[in-house]
Amino acid sequence: MTRPERFRRFLDYFTTAFPEPKTELAYRNPYELIVAVVLSAQCTDKRVNQVMPALLEQFPTAAELGVATADDIFPFIRSVSYPNNKAKHLAGLGKLLLEEFEGEVPSTIEELQRLPGVGRKTANVVVSVIYNQPAMAVDTHVFRVSHRLGLVPKTATTPLAVERALVKYTPQEVIPKAHHWLILHGRYICVARTPKCSICPLTDFCAYYAKVVAPGLAPAAGKPSAKSQL
Ligand code: SF4
Repeated sequence: MTRPERFRRFLDYFTTAFPEPKTELAYRNPYELIVAVVLSAQCTDKRVNQVMPALLEQFPTAAELGVATADDIFPFIRSVSYPNNKAKHLAGLGKLLLEEFEGEVPSTIEELQRLPGVGRKTANVVVSVIYNQPAMAVDTHVFRVSHRLGLVPKTATTPLAVERALVKYTPQEVIPKAHHWLILHGRYICVARTPKCSICPLTDFCAYYAKVVAPGLAPAAGKPSAKSQL
């Protein structure tokens, strides 16, 4: 199967099965989303959603976050991963939003990447989710699932290479959705250690399934194996 055909199967399936995927992070505006995405690095969305209400009560906008110190922020995010670093990032992020962007979240990847704690992945999430721009954020789930499905070549060994390969074959208007489809599939079915292939609807075109899983399956009941016929 060619890569474009694989993409077509992938997009067709999710367009029908899951037409309006959404981020699992709770947010009401761009400020809340960027704070949540910074906190979500190597942490679960569930945990981030738990800490956000108290954090937002204390720092409801960039005006409050921009004058806070890392020590002020830390107690509200102590239960997420890497709270010290993230507290520093949020303090710096709030300060820069206030000083250079009038308290508003910028809308370009270049401007977003100037904010502390915001790398290309986070910037892509923000422009994709908030501004519906064709940006493909590649996290660990997107990286793994797109490789297993065979959507990207083996030579795509960095997040940026995977991003470029995915964007190449995905229609622009579908890119924000495809990002969520890959994340959610990786989070709930194509999990890292033992993918749940037995309940996966994509086995008929998944490269990993064809190469690794299917050859190891026992012959179906009632159907004699080649060995038993010897
Ligand atoms: S068939 Fe298995 S490896 Fe392939 S996408 Fe589904 S869960 Fe992942």
